[in-house]
Amino acid sequence: MRKINLTGWILIGLVLGVLVGWLVGTPILPWTNPLAELFLRLLKMIIIPLIFTSIITGVTGVGDSTSFGRMGIKTLLYYLTTSFLAILTGLVLVNLLQPGVGADFGFQEVPQLGEQSLQSLGDIFYRLIPTNPIAALANGDTLAVIFFALLLGFFITRLPQPQRTLLGDIFEAGFKVMMKMTQFVINLAPVGVFALLVRVVATTGFEAFGNLGLYALAVVSGLLIHAVITLPLALRLLAGISPWRFLQAMSTALLTAFSTSSSSATLPMTLECAEDRAGISNRTSSFVLPLGATVNMDGTALYECVAAIFIAQVYGIELSFLQQMVVVVTALLASIGAAGIPMAGLVMITIILRAVGLPLEGIGLILAVDRVLDMMRTTVNVWSDSVGTAIIARSEGEIFLK
Ligand code: ASP
Repeated sequence: MRKINLTGWILIGLVLGVLVGWLVGTPILPWTNPLAELFLRLLKMIIIPLIFTSIITGVTGVGDSTSFGRMGIKTLLYYLTTSFLAILTGLVLVNLLQPGVGADFGFQEVPQLGEQSLQSLGDIFYRLIPTNPIAALANGDTLAVIFFALLLGFFITRLPQPQRTLLGDIFEAGFKVMMKMTQFVINLAPVGVFALLVRVVATTGFEAFGNLGLYALAVVSGLLIHAVITLPLALRLLAGISPWRFLQAMSTALLTAFSTSSSSATLPMTLECAEDRAGISNRTSSFVLPLGATVNMDGTALYECVAAIFIAQVYGIELSFLQQMVVVVTALLASIGAAGIPMAGLVMITIILRAVGLPLEGIGLILAVDRVLDMMRTTVNVWSDSVGTAIIARSEGEIFLK
């Protein structure tokens, strides 16, 4: 018993969750749902104070404005390149497999579009700047919190030494205590993961996959290629790190991403794994990871592209090369704009559909399998954030996992 580590216990929780959800089904939910809810709430409780203090600590830790600019550019470059590669993978697969061509969809469920779908990309840009930072913190508006924290951190480094040290120390202490709380919550992960998996398996029917099987296959194989080939290659070539060892270090975070379908809720775990298990410095991870959890979503980007083109195929609409390029660019923007919460990507597809003039009801077609695809794309999102942090840390001369 002693030999099983935390990851082992989480895996046991995951497998048991699938079995119990499948064999017992919904009658077990009144017992397991409270556990799932408690675990999710504990994670969510940590997110905002953690993002706020970690970004400030990260920026003040980076030090002067030259290093800050250099790290920022590297981070953005990594995010854009990998998301773009992911989209291209999806584009090739959806054109090869043609999952929507000739498919017969008797049902035309009209989905309820949430608030988010109505925002244009311009709104997302404006929303970066909070008119009231305290309200942004209170409402959990992650992008606005990140923007304010980045500026605050930067201007703390411009203060005279005594004040700089004072504020720097206060935020660093705040960050450390949030990490301690994270370590406590991590121990509950096996039970939380178990309860979340019971819920998914007991409430999601697998019949939906019949009609949408080929579409799901296109998304899943794209995600696999990106996660198992593209990102590990980047890790090996750009950072010289063994992908397998890094995967082991990040496993708790990846399993949490899979079961929560939320990059934001997983962030505390991702930070903990990157720092304590992989040995990446706080300076790099506290800057790169919170940003990544919000804007870098390779899995979502790939999925947006496949889903939009699938919808076009089902409606029998031939997309020109130029229109496919519009899909690629808007898929990238939609993945940046999607929040790190469950099913955010599904709603963002409306932006792409609108851009190329496809019927918005199209998202009703893919609703049925979205839950499971969400789990997978979120895992890829978190994996890409983690790989990016390792690559950037190594490029800054850090030695870890040696
Ligand atoms: N659930 C995803 C995430 O949190 C976003 C999405 O729906 O694609 O990373």
